[in-house]
Amino acid sequence: LKVGGWEVGEGGRLDMEGALTARDRVGIQDFVLLDETTEAAFLSNLKKRFSKDLIYTYIGTLLVSVNPYKELDIYNKKQMDIYMGVNFFELPPHIYALADNAYHTMLTEFNNHFILISGESGAGKTEASKKILQYYAVSCPSTTLLNTVRDKMLMSNPVLEAFGNAKTLKNDNSSRFGKYMDIQFDSQGDAVGGHILNYLLEKSRVVHQNHGERNFHIFYQLVEGGSDDLLHQLGLERGCQHYNYLTQGQCPIVPSINDKNDWKTVKNALQIISFDETATNVSWMLLQMVIASVLHLGNVRFESDSKGHALLNNNTELHWLLGVDAHRLQEGLTFRKIEAKKDQVLSPFTTDHAIYARDALAKAIYGQTFTWLVNRINESMENKDPSRKTVIGLLDIYGFEVFYVNSFEQFCINYCNEKLQQLFIELTLKSEQEEYEAEGIEWEPVQFFNNKIICDLIEEKHRGIISLLDEECLRPGDATDLTFLERLEEKMGNHPHFVTHKLADKMTRKTLERGDFRLLHYAGEVTYCVVGFLDKNNDLLYRNIKDVSLQLILCQIKTCFRLYSRRRPETVVTQFKSSLQKLTEILVAKEAWYIRCLKSNESKQSGQFDEALIRHQVKYLGLMEHLRVRRAGFAYRRKYDVFLKRYKPLCPATWPHWRGVAADGVEVLAQHLGYLPDEYKMGRTKIFIRHPRTLFATEDAYEKC
Ligand code: ADP
Ligand code: MG
Repeated sequence: LKVGGWEVGEGGRLDMEGALTARDRVGIQDFVLLDETTEAAFLSNLKKRFSKDLIYTYIGTLLVSVNPYKELDIYNKKQMDIYMGVNFFELPPHIYALADNAYHTMLTEFNNHFILISGESGAGKTEASKKILQYYAVSCPSTTLLNTVRDKMLMSNPVLEAFGNAKTLKNDNSSRFGKYMDIQFDSQGDAVGGHILNYLLEKSRVVHQNHGERNFHIFYQLVEGGSDDLLHQLGLERGCQHYNYLTQGQCPIVPSINDKNDWKTVKNALQIISFDETATNVSWMLLQMVIASVLHLGNVRFESDSKGHALLNNNTELHWLLGVDAHRLQEGLTFRKIEAKKDQVLSPFTTDHAIYARDALAKAIYGQTFTWLVNRINESMENKDPSRKTVIGLLDIYGFEVFYVNSFEQFCINYCNEKLQQLFIELTLKSEQEEYEAEGIEWEPVQFFNNKIICDLIEEKHRGIISLLDEECLRPGDATDLTFLERLEEKMGNHPHFVTHKLADKMTRKTLERGDFRLLHYAGEVTYCVVGFLDKNNDLLYRNIKDVSLQLILCQIKTCFRLYSRRRPETVVTQFKSSLQKLTEILVAKEAWYIRCLKSNESKQSGQFDEALIRHQVKYLGLMEHLRVRRAGFAYRRKYDVFLKRYKPLCPATWPHWRGVAADGVEVLAQHLGYLPDEYKMGRTKIFIRHPRTLFATEDAYEKC
């Protein structure tokens, strides 16, 4: 069968230059066409393609991407033009093809879509989401007026990355927040607006970094890239080595990162985003002051007096915390204010408490600034025309991660990944098979691992880990991280995905340290250290520190600290849980596209295909199961009446009117078009077509008639 003049499916497909290439040279471009569906065949195909820098392969309409760790010459205007408006299967796999197909489906069917990009930390999710955004910004039709909206969308990336990304051991530019971005299009297909939802920023990084990791990029950019004048104005010295908050990971300088240049990029980007015409400069100055304030705070030190109470040994730093009364801040950092009936009593801190209060303040300031920034960016990208619009949502969230020591942050991140995997399963494997059943299509069920059991272990009401954690956080009295662990062991001890100390000791695997628990996630086992869980989940600021922070610069730029409320705020993990719930609701209402990113090796090297590592990812991402469902299944389906309405001109018996039941009309049409018996199935309400090429041929005929 020919599609758009090209032979598709048999023997080979087009390579980048548009010539047919032999299958043994570049492998198969769609796993659905592989001769066998074994893992070995899958990996060998992936490897063959990777060795030729062909990092993309399809499983039907799902895109598999392997991180090349080098610049490939496949992301440019010329490539974009090649992919624009061309059917999915007619050209070699590319992220542009997926972006383009989502876009055109949105325009023809006038519905909403989202692209779910998943994979572990460092697999290439963020890069993928940037490529897609660039594709839309460059190749959608445009009017000069709207260009500004696109520029703003594009420029939101460097800004949010500066404030929300950091070097970790897994990735030099690791996203430490989750991001869902809606790109809004009008009925002509013009990009007219954008909106970002952000998820749980890893604030603890502001005050602490593990060995080999850094704080958020923006801090280094300021002290390396800021002009002498600026640094002088902010009371800063040049160089990261002067700041406690920048040096704990002992790697302030990273070869792959140019902080000085990035500073310029961020500055320019902010100019383009232009918060509101006149206030840009003011906002930018205030932002710089906030960054500087956090650095100064980190250098505040305490000593103990003879009674063990904390004393500030030097308060020069405090004067640089702009807009704050140094005396009150000093008091806030060294005393706790306790309200007893109508009296207020000041109770002195130990140095440990004082350090805790200082760090809590730094984290709060930074976290609120980040939220403020996202809000400003949203205002600037806002769609000014409220008439009918459709959206394509891009989801780029922190990937699954396992470090030597895993804490509350990894728990939240990995929980999030469980939820996304669950969504993927619900929307693909499960719903696909349920649809065949509902339509009465004969079907050999494909077995797959459903991670719902792990999601439940974590989030089930009254029984899950989150509930237990919250209970400990809210329990007055002697609750500690260790009592939380005891409760976990007591309640979860028999769960197949929870490993207790008792079990771990029996297993040959590494035993658990005191203070650890282990979860068997869909993507692998992770040992969590409970130290800090309660504090981080509570995320409390002492009352008088709250009072101080209310005075902060941030108030001048009108951020509301969520501290006004007298009511106890929800815990961090519970807020996170409900924001993920909302996200799921946003997503399921849309049509889904998937990109599964694979990490090629652990050492960030180009040309290295670590087979064991990739096999593991292929396994836990459920790619083999997805392939089996796809292969056994039908790529395309449509309701009888819709199908008939579109294609009835192709057959004299159905044109201009089919007088009987729609299903019968479709059968007549299919016979007339010469569909082979194995190629389609008639369900209860829909026709199912096995290969896209059949559909394309039909569509071709429709175009010509
Ligand atoms: P993730 O968001 O999944 O954690 P990133 O998208 O930040 O991972 O990718 C990590 C690094 O891998 C990038 O900084 C870049 O160096 C490299 N990389 C990822 N995708 C590509 C790509 N398509 N081409 C070239 N390099 C890439
Ligand atoms: Mg990322």
